[in-house]
Amino acid sequence: TAPRLALEAVSRAFDGTAAVREVSLTVEAGEVVCLLGPSGCGKSTSLRIAAGVERQDAGRVLIDGQPVSDDRGHAPPEGRSVGLMFQDYALFPHLTVAENVAFGLRGRRARDRQAVVADYLLRVGLKGYGEKYPHQLSGGEQQRVALARALAPRPRVMLMDEPFSGLDTRLRDEVREETLSILKREGTAVLMVTHEPDEAMRMADRIALMREGRIVQVGAPYHVYNYP
Ligand code: ADP
Ligand code: ADP
Repeated sequence: TAPRLALEAVSRAFDGTAAVREVSLTVEAGEVVCLLGPSGCGKSTSLRIAAGVERQDAGRVLIDGQPVSDDRGHAPPEGRSVGLMFQDYALFPHLTVAENVAFGLRGRRARDRQAVVADYLLRVGLKGYGEKYPHQLSGGEQQRVALARALAPRPRVMLMDEPFSGLDTRLRDEVREETLSILKREGTAVLMVTHEPDEAMRMADRIALMREGRIVQVGAPYHVYNYP
């Protein structure tokens, strides 16, 4: 069967300078793949192309084997079954926790929406937090709400760009572990951007190492870690 997510020879240049060069990558259901590399190597652009919030100049993005864009990247992101967690993708401060989680469920019947919200708050360990506001929650709790919000529409693919960088170091390990165990339980295909080898080592089933717009190595963390 087709991988959940596939990038096929995706390229993008800005002002004539290549940022992403023929990046090909697959992510299977239940798998966490980390894009790892130094700042400016093209990780975020690759992820944003997968999300449909940035277009590619060439190549294709497929979900469950179906192209979700032509090779110019013309496809609306709303049409893609992807959940997004970006660095500064904060919660809506004036909405309750329940309203935040319900955000991606617009168009469903109210009772159905309430049931899904309650289910996902339970899954992230925040049962009973629905009526609170984000500022009443700890950083770790806010992160779990963001995770519930991204997961509630049941995306085929979860795309995360440095999702833990807003947390202080004390919290980060704990939230990482929690997030990983929730994602594993959900069986979502996860593509995550990080510039921290340590984070990739902890989270990834496979690491795709990027340099200057290219993927130079893909494999299990141990193998990539020992790459010269
Ligand atoms: P990373 O996520 O690895 O830090 P990025 O994908 O953000 O790398 O950026 C790759 C390269 O593309 C960098 O040189 C960056 O400055 C450039 N770039 C990214 N987005 C834009 C943009 N919208 N306009 C111009 N250059 C960009
Ligand atoms: P990240 O930390 O995820 O790599 P950046 O700080 O590089 O993100 O980029 C944040 C935003 O700025 C993105 O929308 C990116 O496309 C844009 N951007 C990045 N580099 C440039 C650039 N050189 N010129 C214009 N926009 C850029």
